[in-house]
Amino acid sequence: MTTLPNTEQVWEALARIPDPEIPVINVVEMGIVRDVQIEGPRAIISMTPTFSGCPALHLIREQLEETTRSLGFAEVVVKTILSPPWSTDWITPEAKERLRQYGIAPPKPTAGQEGVLIQLEAALTRCPRCGSFNTSVKNTFGPTLCKAIHVCNDCKEPFESFKTV
Ligand SMILES: [Zn+2]
Repeated sequence: MTTLPNTEQVWEALARIPDPEIPVINVVEMGIVRDVQIEGPRAIISMTPTFSGCPALHLIREQLEETTRSLGFAEVVVKTILSPPWSTDWITPEAKERLRQYGIAPPKPTAGQEGVLIQLEAALTRCPRCGSFNTSVKNTFGPTLCKAIHVCNDCKEPFESFKTV
């Protein structure tokens, strides 16, 4: 009888799955994988979808299932947890830094973001290239619902920002 991996090893395996839209970040760092439970030959993975409008959620689900199954589990259950809703606060600080290096302005902390602050959000988005706050929004929808397109008024380069939710 083969020995099945423990939860820690399952977490490690899942951390090798890149986010389909942002390949520099894995699905664990994104905060998508919430819980791993092992009950005998059965593994139960709990996930929280990110932006409801983002494509590739079913792809993430499939990859979670396939990866866990490949570790030797006879049965893999992927549960979707909708409450509490996913927050960009769940993205690890290391991953946010990698986003910035990748050229995407990382999401800002959600705490205290109300009313006028939301309106100021565009002005406060920092250029990931030169660090300038002198940026404007070009298109709030961007290539996907998760990202917005901005342009830096200092280095004149367009860049994407990860929406804060
Ligand atoms: Zn710039």
